[in-house]
Amino acid sequence: MTPRLRPDLDDLPVYVPGKTYPGAIKLASNEVTFGPLPSVASAIADAVSSINRYPDNAMVELTEALAKKLGVTSTEVQVGCGSVTLCQNLITVTCRPGDEVLFGWRSFETYPIATRIAGATPVQIPLDDGLGYDLPAMAKAVTDKTRLVFICNPNNPTGTVVSRDDLVAFLRAVPDDLVVALDEAYIEYTRLGAAQDYDALELRREFPNLVVLRTFSKAYGLAGLRVGYAVADPAVITALGKAHIPFSINTLAQRAAVACLAADDELLARTDAVVTERVRVTAQLRTLGYRVPESQANFVWLDLGSEALPFAQASTEAGVIVRPFDGDGVRVTVTEVDENDAFLAFAADWARRRG
Ligand SMILES: *Cc1c(COP(=O)(O)O)cnc(C)c1O
Repeated sequence: MTPRLRPDLDDLPVYVPGKTYPGAIKLASNEVTFGPLPSVASAIADAVSSINRYPDNAMVELTEALAKKLGVTSTEVQVGCGSVTLCQNLITVTCRPGDEVLFGWRSFETYPIATRIAGATPVQIPLDDGLGYDLPAMAKAVTDKTRLVFICNPNNPTGTVVSRDDLVAFLRAVPDDLVVALDEAYIEYTRLGAAQDYDALELRREFPNLVVLRTFSKAYGLAGLRVGYAVADPAVITALGKAHIPFSINTLAQRAAVACLAADDELLARTDAVVTERVRVTAQLRTLGYRVPESQANFVWLDLGSEALPFAQASTEAGVIVRPFDGDGVRVTVTEVDENDAFLAFAADWARRRG
């Protein structure tokens, strides 16, 4: 007997995480190389003694700390078990089966998977020639079935950002009750020029339908603890609260995130070194002949087309794990000099062999 499951999920791909091999350099998941700060490690250690109790389901301390830092009220913040969970819950609270979720493609793999799990329909608009989100094309693709838009900025996996003018024009063009989620998982790594620089929290004043998604997994280095958050209109936050899986942000994660916020300056200062390396790695890859768009995140994208899989396979064999996207390209996390150099040595070797 075959268990009876939803047949529409049969052809749904399973999320493919970055691979890990003992001894290899892992540049596949956009993590930071640093372990937690001593203050964060000790907050986690202190919290261990209370794990016989359920976590605070309302996440009061963390929510208030975030609200204070961001200059919003607690009613505008929802913490989630990683921002992937908030992506999924946003779909759940906006879509019924048959409704449409609009986003650029290629982009974050969670969007199409979570959309299909909810029984909604993904509408994927190809990136523009510069491998960035094509917001004018997306605005045209909005229909009366569109319930949610994801704008991944910077875009995972290409690292590109939209311009402020395009973003504002998009928000003006779409219905003002359409929920637009700006996924800013990598915002701490952006060093934007005047044409791109925007403040999502500021934009929310003009566009209350805007939802800002951020995470402690990347620049804050808590990928293993699973904490993300949404900033949105209280009506959206109330709905997200209904979809929230009870107690899904554990006590260690809540305490660690609060400690990270207290050490904000130190953690954010670390992003400067990655930004410096990003510029160096990009320049060197271009010199080697690779097509690499300018990245504003802690990774670079190699536009390799059909070479993506063989390139990633050979890189793994050379001891550096990168993230291939079949037929499209390879995403490589930028970390510290030694690790980046190991990848660049492989990339130089590959370019030489391919002539
Ligand atoms: C890493 C990432 C996230 C955050 O994931 P968490 O669940 O918070 O670890 C969200 N969006 C994008 C685009 C990402 O790359």
